[in-house]
Amino acid sequence: MTDHSFDVIVIGAGPAGEVAAGRLAQRGKAVALVERELVGGECSYWACMPSKALLRPNEALDELLRVPGASGAIDPSGIDVPRALERRDEVIHHLRDDAQLPWLEERGVTLLRGHARLAGERRVAVEGVGDCTAREAVIVATGSSALLPPIPGLAEAAPWTNREATTASEVPGELIVLGGGVVGVELAQAWRWLGAYVMLVEAGDRLIAREEPFASEQVSQALHLRDVELWIGARAVGVARGADGRTTVTLDDGEELTGDRLLVAVGRRPRTEDLGLETVGLEPGEQIEVDDALRVPGRPWLYAIGDVNGRALLTHMGKHQARVAADAICGDDGARVGRLDGPLSPRVVFTDPNVAAVGHTLASAREAGIAARAVDRETSANAGGSFHGHGAAGTTRFVVDTERELLVGATFVGPEVAEMLHAATIAIAAEVPLATLANAVPAFPTRSELWLDLHVGD
Ligand SMILES: Cc1cc2nc3c(=O)[nH]c(=O)nc-3n(C[C@H](O)[C@H](O)[C@H](O)COP(=O)(O)OP(=O)(O)OC[C@H]3O[C@@H](n4cnc5c(N)ncnc54)[C@H](O)[C@@H]3O)c2cc1C
Repeated sequence: MTDHSFDVIVIGAGPAGEVAAGRLAQRGKAVALVERELVGGECSYWACMPSKALLRPNEALDELLRVPGASGAIDPSGIDVPRALERRDEVIHHLRDDAQLPWLEERGVTLLRGHARLAGERRVAVEGVGDCTAREAVIVATGSSALLPPIPGLAEAAPWTNREATTASEVPGELIVLGGGVVGVELAQAWRWLGAYVMLVEAGDRLIAREEPFASEQVSQALHLRDVELWIGARAVGVARGADGRTTVTLDDGEELTGDRLLVAVGRRPRTEDLGLETVGLEPGEQIEVDDALRVPGRPWLYAIGDVNGRALLTHMGKHQARVAADAICGDDGARVGRLDGPLSPRVVFTDPNVAAVGHTLASAREAGIAARAVDRETSANAGGSFHGHGAAGTTRFVVDTERELLVGATFVGPEVAEMLHAATIAIAAEVPLATLANAVPAFPTRSELWLDLHVGD
């Protein structure tokens, strides 16, 4: 077999791997990017992009329905489902990655197609290509897959994971969703809106448990109003698929739920099982631990970015880590992930209402020893909010460190608040003093006038 040699080899062409490869090539490195499926990774085809495409038509419709004058002009029969699914297919490029390739070509990145395995220090074996050597570094960016919990009968029932749930071309009559985290609630709402009867089972005591309790409540309420059946604090203990293809889930209190499809959305596992990790002294199947420069301790040539290191399972954070790792490889000593990494990362749940949050919740700030106070407001209770129409519910909370007079967290709940998040991200990342923020005047009439209340106190 031929021996291929590069400065840096990146394994996995999801958002993290692509960004790392592009940045390294732009900084003059000879880079190979190895991908065994589609360039663009989970995010482009089976995660972020299709889920948002499935949610968007009804989000837009609901926004119009709340606005007097516009609502009367809407066809009451709802959205055009086949057209919405077609649009989803356009967004995921019909599961082809041709559109992603020019970006790599323009940057001079060598794309190697095949399954890659580490084969010792700075060595990577790529199926169908051969043995490759990295002169400087190897970056692992292999992402994560859906976790199937060990519930008796679950694997045999061939449930949907995010892959089937984001690419299905028919709306199931009844869909059972296991898991009330971000993926579970987004896909429950998406398929409910598209016409499925949805039953959502969450073992914990609330949905999207990482967020503020009011965010959980308001998303639960929105799902409830849409007739999503919620089973909170209920644990699935058995699954069986009948001869008719329908699936029955047994809950811990003996209740049985039956549906045409079962979606499992209870978490992710790192894609490290068949990656040759044992050849470099790491444990296959485990997430790859890294320091703040994304380097694997004790192996200065090895980096891990994106979902595979388990720090923040979000595309934008994987891309941020990619830029940091690339800069570290290029010798920038100060290249480090910022303070808004991990659980403090900016994050959005794209349900209606959106939940957009960054930094601490009130509880996590207090747990971290911060003397925190909350400023709570109704998101649409100002002049800007009035234009979002009737029933645009949701709460905004700013979490303030009262000793340092800084914002340390923000959560916005409401229709289309995702775009409001970045101002808070800037204020927290840059530690802008509240006194300085007072000069950052929000335009009238926008919902951003909520920021003025930061200075009034609660
Ligand atoms: C339903 C859903 C919705 C989501 N929505 C959002 C959202 O709105 N916003 C957000 O920020 N995040 C969202 N996420 C999370 C986001 O999808 C991930 O954080 C992101 O895809 C991680 O990027 P990555 O590059 O680390 O890995 P991936 O996107 O998983 O890409 C890894 C790539 O590596 C390849 N690979 C794996 N092993 C090998 C190997 N051995 N050899 C060669 N290639 C290999 C894979 O084929 C894949 O292409 C969502 C996730 C889900 C499941």
